[in-house]
Amino acid sequence: MLDRSIQELESSSLARIASATTPEALEAIRVEVLGRKSGALVEISKGMGKLAPEERARIGKLLNGAKQNLETALEARLQEFAADRLARKLDAEWVDLTLPPPGPRRGHLHPITRIQREIEELFVSLGFTVLDGPEVETEYHNFDALNIPATHPARDAQDTFWLHGGHLLRTHTSPVQVRGMQTLGPPLRMIAPGRVFRNESVDASHEHTFYQLEGMMIDREVSVAHLIYFMKTMLTAIFRREVSVRLRPGFFPFVEPGFELDILCLICGGEGCPVCKASGWVEQLGCGLVHPNVLRMSGIDPEEWNGFAFGLGLTRLVMMRYGIDDIRWLQSGDLRFLEQF
Ligand SMILES: [Zn+2]
Repeated sequence: MLDRSIQELESSSLARIASATTPEALEAIRVEVLGRKSGALVEISKGMGKLAPEERARIGKLLNGAKQNLETALEARLQEFAADRLARKLDAEWVDLTLPPPGPRRGHLHPITRIQREIEELFVSLGFTVLDGPEVETEYHNFDALNIPATHPARDAQDTFWLHGGHLLRTHTSPVQVRGMQTLGPPLRMIAPGRVFRNESVDASHEHTFYQLEGMMIDREVSVAHLIYFMKTMLTAIFRREVSVRLRPGFFPFVEPGFELDILCLICGGEGCPVCKASGWVEQLGCGLVHPNVLRMSGIDPEEWNGFAFGLGLTRLVMMRYGIDDIRWLQSGDLRFLEQF
């Protein structure tokens, strides 16, 4: 009688353990069958008192065997649950270390912006103000106020993007000098970096849109020596090394005397390449002492004040600094190019 109860309880409990789906269900089975106070096995053992001693020993053995089998089955099933949980966790938290890291990619400043800011910091430390001006200019500010005669070829539609109503896209940053003199007056130390536009056919060294930097110092008794000092200071800071320069007389309507400052090509070292147009020298900037007419047109008395002015191609400077041999890369928007800086 008891034999059968024990066997039935054991086999039905093993079946329930096998089909249990949670650790909580297993625990419920354990309490119900193996519980010390009112578990099913304990209830069965209560009937043993009436048995003969040999019979009691035999049933006791059966009970112990059933109890051990059930405990082993419970433990095995619990470990299966634990292994499952671990496997699911590993599956969910798996990381492929060969993939790029998540999150936004970090950008950086364009090489033109970077050098522009370096030059701005340098000139600010020398007491200069950084000025900004409109990219759409009047013919007066772009040409007339800079002593550029109406017949000058620069005004030709081949060089200038003309807009309606006498406006144009500024062909240089020089009109900011005019605005600076008119609004701030002397003494004046200013630079004006910015974007300029020329109606040019594009090749390795020409772009329709590029960057210039203009500078001016108006004070009493400013000489060419001051000009040379500031130009040398600037070029040393930009190229972080000694550069070979040459000064040539140059004509710009807004300066007198005027100079062209060339540096030995940093890309080919003077042997000739597309950037220096095979000459070995790269025109770096135009400069000179401000023409009295320019001062007068901006309301400054040339008998009392004078000064120097310079304008350089910021874009060309960046090409020299980084050894870029084609100007078209700079505004290509090509990340393969930009990510090198
Ligand atoms: Zn060269």
